[in-house]
Amino acid sequence: MKAVNNHYDVVVIGGGVVGCAIARELSRYKLSIALLEKEADVGWGISCRNSGVVHAGFNYKPGTLRAQLCVKGNKSFAKLCQELDVPYKKIGKVVVAQKKGEIRELKKLKAQGEKNKVEGLQIINSTELKRLEPNVKGIAALYSPETAITSPYLLTIALAENALRNGVCFFLNTEVKSIAKLRNSDFRINTNQGEFISSYVINSAGLYSDRVAHMVSKDKYRIYPCRGEYYVLDKNASWIINRLIYPVPKAGASGLGIHLTPTIDGNILIGPSNEYIKIKNNFSTTSPVMKMLSAEARKFLPLISPGYIIRSYSGLRAKQAPSSEGGFWDFVIEESDTVKNFINLIGIESPGLTAAQPIAKRVVEIINKKERLSPNPQLIILWGQEV
Ligand SMILES: Cc1cc2nc3c(=O)[nH]c(=O)nc-3n(C[C@H](O)[C@H](O)[C@H](O)COP(=O)(O)OP(=O)(O)OC[C@H]3O[C@@H](n4cnc5c(N)ncnc54)[C@H](O)[C@@H]3O)c2cc1C
Repeated sequence: MKAVNNHYDVVVIGGGVVGCAIARELSRYKLSIALLEKEADVGWGISCRNSGVVHAGFNYKPGTLRAQLCVKGNKSFAKLCQELDVPYKKIGKVVVAQKKGEIRELKKLKAQGEKNKVEGLQIINSTELKRLEPNVKGIAALYSPETAITSPYLLTIALAENALRNGVCFFLNTEVKSIAKLRNSDFRINTNQGEFISSYVINSAGLYSDRVAHMVSKDKYRIYPCRGEYYVLDKNASWIINRLIYPVPKAGASGLGIHLTPTIDGNILIGPSNEYIKIKNNFSTTSPVMKMLSAEARKFLPLISPGYIIRSYSGLRAKQAPSSEGGFWDFVIEESDTVKNFINLIGIESPGLTAAQPIAKRVVEIINKKERLSPNPQLIILWGQEV
C-alpha cells in the first residue's frame, strides 16, 4: 500500500538493528510503513557499539523474554544472515573458571542454559580447555558451541536495505519531537522534517525509548545509560584466541564481565566495562577503564601486550534497572496500556542484536492480532533475489 501525503499505516521510530528488523518484518504485509531515524544513517545508535556476539542464551533467566527471544534468535541467525548476505561465524565460546569456587557457577549456567533449550553445553576440564584455547589460563570452562559472531553494522544495513526494497520509506536526519493522538485515533508525529500521520507507532528508540514513550503517556519507563568501553586489538593478534573467552559472570553485575571477542573482521575486542553514567550520548573512553581492561584480559591471556592495541570505543546499555539495583530487567515489548496502537520496546539491551528478528516478529504478532494483516504479494526476502 502506498502512503499519501505522509500518511502511513505504521511509523517505526528508530533505525537501529531492532527498528530495521521490525520494518523488514512488517514489509512482509500489505502496509504502508515509514521508519524515522534522527541520525544520518541507520545503525548509528547502540547497534554499532556492541560486541557483535550471537549469544546462545544460557545467561538469561528461564521464562523471561530475553531468554526465549535470544534462543530463538540464535537458532535462526544463520538463516537470517544467509538471506541477507551478512557474515556469520559459529566459533563457539568458553566461560572460563579461574578458581575452584567458580566451577559451581559454571554448572549453574549450564543447567540454566539447558532449561532455556540451549544445545551442546559442556563443562570441560583444564586439559580440554588447553586443547581448544592453548593461550588461555583456567582450571575449567563451560563450552558453548552454538555461540557465534556477526557484523552488527552490516546486519542493520542489510535489514534496512531489504525493508526498503519491499516498500518501507526511510526518513533519515528525522528526529521525532512530539506525538499527538488525533480525534480519529491516528497519531500526528512532529519531527524536525515535518509531520507524519499514522495509525500505529512503534517506539524502537533504544536509549531514548523512555523519552518517546513519555510523548504520549505519563512517566512509566526510565532508561539509565550504562557505559561499556572496549579496546580493539590489531588483526596481527588474531592468532591468540580461537573462540569467545568470557569470565564467570558476577551475581548482580550489569554486564557479562570483561571478555575477549574475535570480530568478523579479524580483530579482537577486549571489554566491555560496566559504568552507569548520566548522559545518554557520552561515548567517550577513559584511561582508568582502559588500564582495568588490560589487567582483566591478562588474567586469562598473559600474552596480550599493549602493542596490539589499535583503538578504543564505547557503547551504552539501555538499562531499566537503576544503578542502586544493577542486574537486568526483562525486555518490554507491549502495546501501551493507555494509548491504543502505540507499541513500546523498552530496555532492549543485550542480547538485543541476537534477538532482533524474534523481537520484530513479536511486534508484528501484536499488530496482526488486531488487524489480520494480508501478505505483501511482491515480497523479496533474499538478497539478490530480484536481480
Ligand atoms: C556494550 C554493549 C555490548 C553489547 N553486546 C551485544 C552482543 O554481543 N550481542 C547482542 O545480542 N547484543 C549486544 N548488545 C545489545 C545490542 O547492541 C542492543 O540490544 C541493540 O543494538 C539495540 O538495538 P536498538 O535498535 O533497540 O537500539 P539503537 O541501535 O540504539 O537504535 C535506536 C535508534 O533510535 C534512534 N532515535 C532515538 N530517538 C529518536 C527520535 N526521537 N527520533 C528518531 N530517531 C530516534 C537513535 O538514533 C537510534 O539509531 C550490547 C549492547 C552494549 C551497549
